[in-house]
Amino acid sequence: MKISFYGAARSVTGSRHLIEAGSTQILLDCGMFQGRRQQSDHLNRRLGFDVQRVNAVLLSHAHIDHSGALPILAKEKFKGPVYMTSATADLTSLMLQDSARIQKNDSTYINKKENRRGNRRLSPYYDTKDVRSIIQRFSTVRYGKTIRISPRIKAEFYDAGHILGSSSIWLKHTHHGHSVSVLFSGDLGRTNMPILRDPEPPPTCDVLILESTYGDRIHEEGNDVMKQKARELVAHAQQHQSKIIVPAFAIGRTQELVMHIKELVQSHEIDPLPIFIDSPLASKATDIFRRHPECFDQKTYKTFTDQADPFAAKYIRYVSSVQESQALNNMPGPCVIISASGMCEGGRVLHHLKHAVQDERNIIALVGFQAEHTLGRKLIEEWETVPIFGRPISRRAKIVRFNGLSAHADRNDLLDYVRAIDPLPSQIFVVHGEERQSFSLAAALRDEHPTIDVTVPELGSTHRI
Ligand SMILES: [Zn+2]
Repeated sequence: MKISFYGAARSVTGSRHLIEAGSTQILLDCGMFQGRRQQSDHLNRRLGFDVQRVNAVLLSHAHIDHSGALPILAKEKFKGPVYMTSATADLTSLMLQDSARIQKNDSTYINKKENRRGNRRLSPYYDTKDVRSIIQRFSTVRYGKTIRISPRIKAEFYDAGHILGSSSIWLKHTHHGHSVSVLFSGDLGRTNMPILRDPEPPPTCDVLILESTYGDRIHEEGNDVMKQKARELVAHAQQHQSKIIVPAFAIGRTQELVMHIKELVQSHEIDPLPIFIDSPLASKATDIFRRHPECFDQKTYKTFTDQADPFAAKYIRYVSSVQESQALNNMPGPCVIISASGMCEGGRVLHHLKHAVQDERNIIALVGFQAEHTLGRKLIEEWETVPIFGRPISRRAKIVRFNGLSAHADRNDLLDYVRAIDPLPSQIFVVHGEERQSFSLAAALRDEHPTIDVTVPELGSTHRI
């Protein structure tokens, strides 16, 4: 067997790993690269492998850095099945439609400006037609149920506890009585996260492909620190009539944030203030959450069955129309605007940032991981001038980070995950991390388990397993 890494290798985005077993080729994830525009553009337009030779795709979860290039497969005439859980299928369909729409809007907006400057035009990677044709290839699987990919290959999906429907994927190739099993961790969540169940313990495997987003970090912020920060933010906004802009993934993070804020209001720790969820995607995603109670932890399951709607309140407004979204720009504070995309790479949040970032009373609260070269990363690094829609804008708004809201396992969780595999795998590939994170985790794994062959694969590299 061979494995090649066509994305999320020494970087976080563009998760694409290709497994070859005899004449069968299986693609794990088909994500979009995000970050430096030119480089990502190149990697998104060329997948790096022969699409027509791929027999099947196994998708770990709906996040666009794992699913966002799927429509390119359809564009290149891929005819196989794309396996995923039912919740992932619903969320991915929604995300891809939205991604096609954002690409169209962003390229129209940018091209208008670039045309004026006489620069070259950008075209979207795919359109809604490509999205529809890849959705037709979706085939849903249940957690823990064995599926047959080919006569010699079977696979199982395990709950990764990262976002709704997220999975770690196990597959086994058997040939002449000899078998090799591979476990792809996908993105791993954390224990005790709202809404979702904890990640399932890993099954036995010979080869592990392990994410390392937070391979060198430990999440120190507990719930108490987060609540204290949230109280201070809201007090600041109420005192200075300011806006709090929260760029957030429309799926998962937004629903969690709403639940946290509601809890703070209900326990009288903060006074209610207008909260705008400015993302049609987030409203639709919330509906998908309601359709998949099989993915909830016990507490959330009970809330959903006991109460009318845990995501609604008088002071929370889901914004749909563009007019209403634009009206928020001129609206005085205090208010909270939660809007996508999470790394500020596209979507309505860019317009809110453009209007709010120059006012020193405002706050930009960053709640998720910000990949290198994204606008979100520049904000978290507190750049004084940030590029928005290709124009430099001076930043005076305050930046606040909420690390405790991360949907990713930290270094200790990742090391625990490997320890739980019994017997230990013989090979580990550390992926889905920037170099510092991946190398740091790999070093810790080699120290602890000298018998395991640990590799941090390079982009485009192929390895025998
Ligand atoms: Zn993810």
